[in-house]
Amino acid sequence: MKVIRDPHEMQEWSAERRRRGIRVGVVPTMGYLHEGHLSLVRLAKAESDVVILTLFVNPTQFGPHEDLERYPRDFERDRALCEAEGVDVLFAPSTGVYAGDHSVYVVEEVLSARLCGASRPGHFRGVLTVVAKLFNLTLADVAVFGEKDAQQLRLIRRMTRDLNFPVRILSGPIVREADGVAMSSRNRNLDAASRAAAPRLQASLRAAERAFERGERNVQALRAEILDVLGDLSPGELDYLEILDDQSLSEVGDLIRAPVLVALAVRFPGARLIDNITLNPEAPHATRPQ
Ligand code: AMP
Repeated sequence: MKVIRDPHEMQEWSAERRRRGIRVGVVPTMGYLHEGHLSLVRLAKAESDVVILTLFVNPTQFGPHEDLERYPRDFERDRALCEAEGVDVLFAPSTGVYAGDHSVYVVEEVLSARLCGASRPGHFRGVLTVVAKLFNLTLADVAVFGEKDAQQLRLIRRMTRDLNFPVRILSGPIVREADGVAMSSRNRNLDAASRAAAPRLQASLRAAERAFERGERNVQALRAEILDVLGDLSPGELDYLEILDDQSLSEVGDLIRAPVLVALAVRFPGARLIDNITLNPEAPHATRPQ
């Protein structure tokens, strides 16, 4: 496996592969890899000839009071996991990918209005900007993202469409711990009480899903079901719980008639956790989270 640190070298490496008709896949990450990331590598391998995993803790997507400094990092561990998974290139730009006087950003104006976009101002501007840069640096044919970051995935698809990036976006399902907690690099920053409360995120979504499968279509009733299972999250607190149109991420009214995204975020002292499911009235039994 090759480790590339220099953005220009990354672009040259990919350009040379593309000239030879080799299909390039990319999995963008912030490192401290877990099975969720590795499942995306496997998807990328199935759809391309060479796979690049990018490892960059992107400062522009962190707010001033967020956890940029505390974000877990372990390069040697990540390198070994990539090597074992058959990644071809680990792109870890050591000096970052931003020019000192960088001044151009990608801003999405509709899908980013709610959910994490509302509670983390500027977050998606940073995400879309770095993903656009990574598309240009890796010249990927295929890029793979996780459904855990549901709003991010929809925004990246929208950016790719609206700015005509010649890249195919694929997604992989949420990979979970045995107790249902969605894997996340940030889980290691949870204290014991927070970690003990964390399984209730998925449990609450599954309760809503069971109600949905029994025929419940009322948004308020499903919200109540979720809040009931979430209960008192202390030392955490609910950041948001929203049931939105799966495509437009807009309000759906009282009754669910088209696919919805049910998304929630909880702020624990050490980390903010997110989780989601989609509910589809046309196929109510086909949406079970794994
Ligand atoms: P991150 O390193 O957290 O920025 O995530 C990098 C990519 O991995 C994103 O596309 C995430 O959506 C995806 N990802 C993170 N956690 C999971 C998970 N538990 N299951 C599936 N994909 C994940």
